Amino acid sequence: MKRALFPGSFDPLTLGHCDIIKRGVTLFDEIIIAIGVNSDKKYMFSLDERKKFIEEAFAHEPKVKVVTYKGLTVDFCNEIGVDFILRGLRNPADFEFEKAIAHTNRSLSEIETVFLLTAASTSYIASSIVRDVIRNNGDYTKLVPDSVRVTN
Ligand code: ADP
Repeated sequence: MKRALFPGSFDPLTLGHCDIIKRGVTLFDEIIIAIGVNSDKKYMFSLDERKKFIEEAFAHEPKVKVVTYKGLTVDFCNEIGVDFILRGLRNPADFEFEKAIAHTNRSLSEIETVFLLTAASTSYIASSIVRDVIRNNGDYTKLVPDSVRVTN
């Protein structure tokens, strides 16, 4: 069974992430969305909220699982027996950043990173931009799936 880990902060899940996940499902038997927990980072949404947004958005898709993890992504992959990491590439800056991480991961493990180019229609979306729109009371609903709603 081919399983891929899709790691990230998902603060919050965006339509860009959803595009990568939906396309990942056609390539792998299982996509494990792994929310990284970094105690030094300040998040807009709690871990529970971020997890719930993803679970609700993919409730109809049995091939998608959501987990949380701490520590190195490759260590977590080895722990749960996953051979692939899935990442999305939006632009050259993403490529440079992801290249260094993928090479490092490859030197630390046998795990292969598989990249998907983002859909043109969602390639401009970043969680940081969504957070800015939310903070400034803009209409963020066009950038995220229906499961992502700000309640307070
Ligand atoms: P991180 O904190 O690791 O940057 P993110 O939650 O922002 O985590 O992103 C996780 C993954 O989703 C990364 O591979 C990133 O490139 C990808 N991604 C982020 N935004 C988009 C988008 N708009 N389209 C496609 N992929 C995206």
